[in-house]
Amino acid sequence: MDHSIIIIGGGPAGLSTALHLQRMAPLLVSSPQGASRVLILEKARYPRSKLCAGALVVDAEVLLEQLGLDVSEVPHVDADNIQFDFEGSGLNFRMWKRHALRIIRRDEFDNWLAIKAKSRGLEIREGISVKNIIPDNEAVTVETDNGTYRAQVVVGADGSNGITRRCIFPNAAVYTARLLEVITPVIARSVATKQSPLKQEIATLPLVVHNDKVAYFDFFPVPNNIAGYVWDFPTQVRGESMRCWGIYDTNILSNQDRPQLKEPLAEEMARLGFSLGDYELKGHPIRWFSPRNQMSVPRMLLVGDAAGADPLLGEGISIALGYGSLAAREIAESFQRNDFSFNGYRRRVVRSALGRSLLVRWAITHIIYPLKWKWFQILLWRFLKPALIFIAKRFVLNWGKRI
Ligand SMILES: Cc1cc2nc3c(=O)[nH]c(=O)nc-3n(C[C@H](O)[C@H](O)[C@H](O)COP(=O)(O)OP(=O)(O)OC[C@H]3O[C@@H](n4cnc5c(N)ncnc54)[C@H](O)[C@@H]3O)c2cc1C
Repeated sequence: MDHSIIIIGGGPAGLSTALHLQRMAPLLVSSPQGASRVLILEKARYPRSKLCAGALVVDAEVLLEQLGLDVSEVPHVDADNIQFDFEGSGLNFRMWKRHALRIIRRDEFDNWLAIKAKSRGLEIREGISVKNIIPDNEAVTVETDNGTYRAQVVVGADGSNGITRRCIFPNAAVYTARLLEVITPVIARSVATKQSPLKQEIATLPLVVHNDKVAYFDFFPVPNNIAGYVWDFPTQVRGESMRCWGIYDTNILSNQDRPQLKEPLAEEMARLGFSLGDYELKGHPIRWFSPRNQMSVPRMLLVGDAAGADPLLGEGISIALGYGSLAAREIAESFQRNDFSFNGYRRRVVRSALGRSLLVRWAITHIIYPLKWKWFQILLWRFLKPALIFIAKRFVLNWGKRI
């Protein structure tokens, strides 16, 4: 067997697992001759595109700092405040003496993280797509489009649509949110070029301008059975200031009549003078956390979206980094005990600081979205500000330093 551990997927979850393993159990990661015992198999080549708004919460930065990494090296835009609205007004959230969100582009961020991992001696094979995974009593066989590998332990870090979870839990229930995303210039193209047939209408619209230091979430689609929000974040693409817009729907109201997902997004963009049809629209799901999600079988663990991201807002980068830390500890202990059953991995995830945050988010999701009446959403976002800010800071964020 060439490798002790194979990690499938080189996104934040897979790279974090490898980097944490190296910090916690360096002898497990490199042989005395310096050969890497951990192999990351990544189907794409860096820098690879990944549909994502790229907003990092404080916990992502804390976890990266713990790994000795400074994310300010990656091109970014900081949002000083987050505005949580219902129909254009609501509560403003800020952090004490720091930005509320740091917004990166995922091609740049993941490439940076992969370079850091390689520079620390971790082996990443790019352009290799895993096709099948078969665990047995002795090891795990990983079949790819470029040969077959064997390892003592395999980590599934291959995201929301990953093959690993489908191989080991083919019949498990899957809780999946749907998302659409679009990148625009700061000023609407139709306004900038003054060519748009919408010009007359835009001229008559009330002037609503979003602040370039604020990340906006608006929950106005909830009464129409879209259990989520429309976002509009400042961002940059190759150094040029841009806006990243999108819509998130947990899908928990999917048994009711809903408009097409792009309709509320188009509505919100039009309110700010943008025409959705002028820009390229892309979609991707997020698999979200439920305490019922299965996360391991003997010799195999799931991390990141494969295990389950935040159901409330679809936040997953800090969570992927956090799963990496938990999985690395689990693997290091399993080699010490020579016991690869991974019994109790899900229980330990749920009891960890990350797991408790995910549980709170899961519970809030099942309260605030089904209570979809307009009056409740107005009450929530406009009048319960102190309670929401307390819950966010105490129970949702700030888990990274306790993991
Ligand atoms: C539209 C959208 C917007 C989002 N915005 C945010 C945001 O602002 N902030 C935030 O925190 N989260 C956001 N998320 C969620 C975030 O993108 C994910 O939670 C995060 O990427 C999860 O990381 P991961 O490492 O688990 O999976 P991924 O980032 O999906 O990485 C999985 C990796 O596995 C590789 N892979 C897949 N299959 C195979 C295979 N068969 N063989 C080999 N390799 C494979 C992929 O190429 C990929 O590199 C957003 C998601 C979407 C869809």
